Amino acid sequence: MPVFNNPFPANITAFISDRTVDFTLNKNNPDLTKKQRELLLNQLGFDLPEPRPILQVHSDKIVIVDEDSLKKRPVLHKADGLITRIPGQPLVIRTADCLPVFMYDPENKGIGLIHVGRRGAANNILREAVSQMKAEWQTKTKAIKVCLGPAIRSCCYKVGEEFQEHFPEDLTVKDGRYYLDLIQVCKSQLVDLGLQDKSILDRGICTCCDKSYFSYRREGESAGRMISLMMLREGQTKK
Ligand SMILES: [Zn+2]
Repeated sequence: MPVFNNPFPANITAFISDRTVDFTLNKNNPDLTKKQRELLLNQLGFDLPEPRPILQVHSDKIVIVDEDSLKKRPVLHKADGLITRIPGQPLVIRTADCLPVFMYDPENKGIGLIHVGRRGAANNILREAVSQMKAEWQTKTKAIKVCLGPAIRSCCYKVGEEFQEHFPEDLTVKDGRYYLDLIQVCKSQLVDLGLQDKSILDRGICTCCDKSYFSYRREGESAGRMISLMMLREGQTKK
């Protein structure tokens, strides 16, 4: 398992799996399987409550996980990001080339985990995530810390020329083909929102180059999914 160094304080768990176990969401039975749960237990060193998964649809929709929503029966919401301030409640998303964006508001002890592909970026889901944090917690954008997880990078992300319309500044041309720098798109969007450049940490891993990850581009429809997980641990009693 490649090391994904958690850049956040010790009270925050931030983790992404590799291709050891496929975490593709089963829509009909969205709970973690025994194998998936075992991998997480091994890697994290503690057992988790069942996460509330989302059905990712490349939208700009953010789910707010709070006391009220946790009292309700789990619903598989169509969304591409989650935020919470509840300790011990894991947030999860699944990716295979798309970018997992881990967000932390240290002043309000809130976290967010966002799935960003090219469509999510075009919809500016990061703006929506930040505006939800502001609305819910009065988050100051300047204080937000971000870590960008493994994703397909401009070395491999060949796209059609229509992308000139959305991301003219983040395309490079090689041999007459266009390559999108999704990571730079997201960084620019975050800085435009008021985050500090130095608060955005990029792990620099390309899922398409690094074969320890699942990659939709490299493997096609049959590609599995990695799970990204973020959780506040403050106040949680260790088992
Ligand atoms: Zn690459």
